[in-house]
Amino acid sequence: MKNKKKSKKWLIITIVTVVVLALGLTSFFLIKKYTGIDYKLTRHGYTSSEVKTLKKNFNKEELNEILKKDYQKDYVYIVSSNQFQKDDYLVYLDELKEGKDKDSILNNHDPIVIDLRKQENYKEDNLSLYLEYLNSDKDKEKVIPYINYLKEIDSNDNYKEDYKEEYINYHFENEKETIDNVIKYINFKNSVKNNSLYKEGYLDKYLEYFMKNQSKSEDDIVKYVNFDNDVKNGKNYNKNYHSKYVDYYLKNNDKKIDDIISTINAEEKKKQEQVLATTTETPIDVSKVDAEKFKSAKYYIADFQERYVNYQARNPSKSTQEVIQAVNSNIDYKFYTNMKSTKTSEGYLMLVNKFNTVGSGYVPKLKSVTGGGQMEPTAAAAFEKMVAAAKADGISLWNVSGYRSYWTQQSLYNSYKKRDGQTKADTYSARPGSSEHQTGLATDICTASSSAHFEKTDKYKWLINNSYKYGFILRYPEGKMYITGYKFEPWHYRYVGVEAATYIHNNNITFEEYHAYFVSH
Ligand SMILES: [Zn+2]
Repeated sequence: MKNKKKSKKWLIITIVTVVVLALGLTSFFLIKKYTGIDYKLTRHGYTSSEVKTLKKNFNKEELNEILKKDYQKDYVYIVSSNQFQKDDYLVYLDELKEGKDKDSILNNHDPIVIDLRKQENYKEDNLSLYLEYLNSDKDKEKVIPYINYLKEIDSNDNYKEDYKEEYINYHFENEKETIDNVIKYINFKNSVKNNSLYKEGYLDKYLEYFMKNQSKSEDDIVKYVNFDNDVKNGKNYNKNYHSKYVDYYLKNNDKKIDDIISTINAEEKKKQEQVLATTTETPIDVSKVDAEKFKSAKYYIADFQERYVNYQARNPSKSTQEVIQAVNSNIDYKFYTNMKSTKTSEGYLMLVNKFNTVGSGYVPKLKSVTGGGQMEPTAAAAFEKMVAAAKADGISLWNVSGYRSYWTQQSLYNSYKKRDGQTKADTYSARPGSSEHQTGLATDICTASSSAHFEKTDKYKWLINNSYKYGFILRYPEGKMYITGYKFEPWHYRYVGVEAATYIHNNNITFEEYHAYFVSH
């Protein structure tokens, strides 16, 4: 009986203890749950996954601070999910509470944006594109120039999204190239590769030719470049006649390379025989000529020694200096004989006259000038500078004829020839290929007519005294027709650069003489 009583007592004690413990634990967990941060956040409307994020980004103290100030839930969540410098989080939240624009606040505190804004050429309008670019795996150094350039070009009419990267890469390699040219270059590069006549090794050549002849069709460009290069491997190819082959091909592009070469070679052979026949007409006695005297003369060119002697023998009354001048200017030959191709690589010092010609394939880059018409860009810029300087002196100048194509010159010359006959036409108009206007370096200023008597105007007086300062020379002066092949043209000026123009002005020589001594020898 006693044992039964005892065990009952222990049972009660055990039950009471368990109940008390259970109650204690339950209330402990309940109190904890309803005073803990999770509970508070949930009561402020955060979902359980948001609570998780918040707890990851803020500690308990920070969360209590946030809850105490009663920031709007959305903002808290935005701030917590952006990786800011956390020290400032209350500042962002205060700004948000004040009602400032959410995006701009986020940006203002984003270390990536802060860094971008410090960089050169940063543009606020492009910010979202910068950020988008930075999200991809690209070269982070380039983000600003890359996006800025892209924004500049994507409105261009010829812009193609597919070539975006190529435009930009080309631009960074050729920073001076205009947007138009960059786009045209890359578009052409991509389209020409699909041309049926495309040849792999000529890509650079197609592009180079295209940039100088943008108005030509892709087919014409490919055909021209193919011929220009393939002809060099032709049977009996003679490099001296290269431009003649090309000219002939342009008019007869259905003919075979070898046929074109043999046609031109035969024509040239015939011409040479004619020249030989005219120059050997009179036998020359060189025995009386002092061959040594030329060597110490001004502008002596050793290559011409034999020609000096021959010319002196045929013209005994001429002075040593006159002989030098004549031979250097080629006038011991007849005009339009002994023709050579102009070295266009000499740039604004290239010589085009009745002995040196440019083919129809030569088209310079061009720029519009005052008065209308176009000139080669360097010459055009110098021309505009001269026009402005003249204007400051009360003189108004403008271009009436700048660049002319081979074909324009051809029809011009043919019409003069028809009207006046070849001999007379040759004194004032160039045969196609021989006109300086084809280089884009020449300008007829205000008029191109003898009857206007431009030489009597203040404009002419100003030009004679000043044009050399801008790199222009009076190309066909009075009394120099025997050298230049043209009668006096007071309106025709040629860009040769300031250095050459100044020399020619100060020494009163023609461009033919200057070119022989200073450029080609
Ligand atoms: Zn002219």
